[in-house]
Amino acid sequence: MYDVIIAGGGPSGSIAAERAAKSGLDVLVLERSRYPRDKPCGGGLSQKALDVIGGIDKELIERELFCARIFTSDYQSFTGILDDRIAVTTTRRNLDHWLINRAEDSGAVVHDGEAVKDINFGKDYVEVATPKNSYRSRIVIGSDGVNSTVAKKSGIRTRWGDGIGLCREAEVELGKTLIDSCVGSDVAEFYFVETWGYGWVFPKRDHISIGVGGWSKRAPNLKALFGRFVKDVSLQKKIDLESKITQVNSHLIPAGGFDRKIHSDRVLLAGDAAGFVDPFLGEGLYYALKSGEIAAEVAINAVELGDFSERSLHEYVVRCEKEFNYNLKSALKFANFAYDHLGVVLRVLQKDERVFLEYLRTVRGDMTYTDFNRWCLLRSPVTFAKLML
Ligand SMILES: Cc1cc2nc3c(=O)[nH]c(=O)nc-3n(C[C@H](O)[C@H](O)[C@H](O)COP(=O)(O)OP(=O)(O)OC[C@H]3O[C@@H](n4cnc5c(N)ncnc54)[C@H](O)[C@@H]3O)c2cc1C
Repeated sequence: MYDVIIAGGGPSGSIAAERAAKSGLDVLVLERSRYPRDKPCGGGLSQKALDVIGGIDKELIERELFCARIFTSDYQSFTGILDDRIAVTTTRRNLDHWLINRAEDSGAVVHDGEAVKDINFGKDYVEVATPKNSYRSRIVIGSDGVNSTVAKKSGIRTRWGDGIGLCREAEVELGKTLIDSCVGSDVAEFYFVETWGYGWVFPKRDHISIGVGGWSKRAPNLKALFGRFVKDVSLQKKIDLESKITQVNSHLIPAGGFDRKIHSDRVLLAGDAAGFVDPFLGEGLYYALKSGEIAAEVAINAVELGDFSERSLHEYVVRCEKEFNYNLKSALKFANFAYDHLGVVLRVLQKDERVFLEYLRTVRGDMTYTDFNRWCLLRSPVTFAKLML
């Protein structure tokens, strides 16, 4: 019998596996795909996410981002620059492979190409079934992404409610020189040209990630919106991006509603499986890594105490709330406000550089959304009161 079975070896599962194995637990990771595998993602890894990993191989860093450029609906742009690095870009295929190798080096057993299909509970164990075998453990961490089998089979959640979004993304090879001249070497671009979310262009070493994402109820036809977005960016940058796109991927993103159930007897959900994504930016990697880390710590504690009851594992909910979930609730308030008053919010960011730079510091991890919202209210109470009205 294993101490912990981790379903899904993305960032949340890998970090949970690494931390639990390092503490001496017997850990099994069951991953549906074979490594190296792709995951639709912009690959933007914020400084706060890097801090959780504790630094990554230089090779994995494709670009270091110090600037963000915002485009308004008429394609006017303005740029905010920080002295400190806000984020790096990576390719998920490489990052996720590196993270799972690190977990394996720490002692975790990894079975890739083996999907979790079912979960059954015994008196002193959980039994996890795959098409190849079944395995027992004291506790299961469900880090199997937005369509989590663990969430469904454990009865924690059968379907997402309202707080779900959709993204569509493509990687386009342009070469370093062209990227440097038409995007920039250290700048991420955000296009708020609709009210349903935003489009992005992130520079990588020799390709870009281009995509659109937003609340699915606000963006009913994402395929058409993506097509139009690519055309508009092509025109704006005078590059035919359309003909260079070979593959486009769509993927759900859990984007709000942070009072969801995330645990039960012998089960913890982490990362996308728990719905931990910034509802304004769609940043999920930091929250996946942080919740994976906390899940491992709670599992280690539970093994020590020999108590895997829902009541005892409530510690996980408390820790997540304290470390980042209260902040996601503030991010949701900010997102709802910003998308309902997009023109005004963009004007404030454009006219008041301090507000823009403080927001970039929030993304970097120097301040929380709660602090940022409060800071904005204090900066100009009259303006913000008018906006609220
Ligand atoms: C288009 C797009 C762009 C994004 N861009 C960014 C970005 O730039 N920066 C950022 O921070 N976030 C971004 N996100 C969000 C980010 O990708 C996710 O929040 C993050 O991947 C969550 O990590 P995770 O480990 O929880 O889940 P995942 O990365 O989804 O990993 C889950 C793993 O579980 C495996 N799995 C699934 N089902 C099973 C099963 N039944 N049994 C075993 N294994 C299973 C999957 O194969 C996968 O490897 C983006 C999301 C999308 C959709």
